[in-house]
Amino acid sequence: HGVVLHQRSSEGRLINVQRLQWYILGVVLLALLVEALTIFRPMIRRIVDYTSEIFRLATVDALTGAPNRRAFTDRGNEEFERSRRAEVIVCILTLDADHFKNVNDTYGHAAGDAVLKALAEAIRRVVRQSDVMGRIGGEEFAVLLPGTDLAGATTLAERLRMSVAAKPISWEGQKISLTVSIGIVEANPATISFEKALDCADKAMYQAKGSGRN
Ligand code: GH3
Ligand code: MG
Ligand code: MG
Repeated sequence: HGVVLHQRSSEGRLINVQRLQWYILGVVLLALLVEALTIFRPMIRRIVDYTSEIFRLATVDALTGAPNRRAFTDRGNEEFERSRRAEVIVCILTLDADHFKNVNDTYGHAAGDAVLKALAEAIRRVVRQSDVMGRIGGEEFAVLLPGTDLAGATTLAERLRMSVAAKPISWEGQKISLTVSIGIVEANPATISFEKALDCADKAMYQAKGSGRN
């Protein structure tokens, strides 16, 4: 308020106290800025990186790169809810490799792993961007097709079944033949839950197993 405070230094000089306070504040702010740029910014970047890595590890299957069961269930539930609001039907496929234990027993576990990778790739090739796929068990995968009816899903499943059966997987100079059994359910999200629908698809898949596989 127009009053300037002065203090006499030990040598008898007059010191402007307010100006001194501004200098100190400036130095403190500068120190904070330097800290923010050199310490906090890299720290936050690392936290963001680690968080996304943890998220990836928790949701992506390391072998096939496909979403794991939990991620499939989460995204499946979201898609189901979206489809319910949009009043569209969905189809769910569950797919299980036939006699997969034989692949491991005959060619070894590493070959089995390669076959599972190839199978995930074969599924990726036939699904669309808007579809949700995941590895929901050891040698079991599932796909959710929003806005696709039973006829469309059957066409896709048949194309997938034929492509797997027709093309043996090459592994260390050997050809490994594989077939898959697929169950399909067409569901109206307004009248059935995602979990129930997935269960129905699984039952249909076991029916396919019971009636000769492939
Ligand atoms: P079915 O036609 O009735 O499905 O017979 P299956 O042999 O495929 O089924 P079963 O459940 O008897 O065996 C599944 C096998 O899948 C057993 C298990 O060791 C193998 N498996 C599960 N996960 C993996 C994996 O990540 N890698 C490999 N190599 N094998 C796996
Ligand atoms: Mg199997
Ligand atoms: Mg199985």
